[in-house]
Amino acid sequence: MDCLFCKIIDGEIPSTKVYEDEYVYAFKDIAPIAPMHILIIPKAHIASANDINAENSSLVAKVFEAAGKIAKEQGCESYRIINNCGDDAGQTVKHLHFHLLGGVKMGWRPESLGRTE
Ligand code: 5GP
Ligand code: ZN
Repeated sequence: MDCLFCKIIDGEIPSTKVYEDEYVYAFKDIAPIAPMHILIIPKAHIASANDINAENSSLVAKVFEAAGKIAKEQGCESYRIINNCGDDAGQTVKHLHFHLLGGVKMGWRPESLGRTE
């Protein structure tokens, strides 16, 4: 499969891993917009939030189970989880991923983190 994040899971493309279990892989974003900026992805290839269904939705729960653990390990008790779904929302990699952001006081609007495009 020609998917950047599948290649990262397989180790074909290097990443800074912060967490891995049977279902989930998490690694540092290459272009962080906050002191903690981690991407959490299901190991199974799901293209976007639009492709979550009754068969695979338990993987999303696994992502959120991991998120709290990872944030705590990174020293962030307060954090934001963002999913961009589709081109207009800014999804550039078509493998479902959740941005785990923290370590800075955030406004409620995403622009406050500097991504305005
Ligand atoms: P999106 O814009 O699709 O929601 O998020 C994709 C994220 O993947 C971006 O924040 C981008 O910086 C990150 N990214 C893109 N390519 C790589 C890569 O090769 N390695 C890592 N660690 N992150 C990447
Ligand atoms: Zn993939």
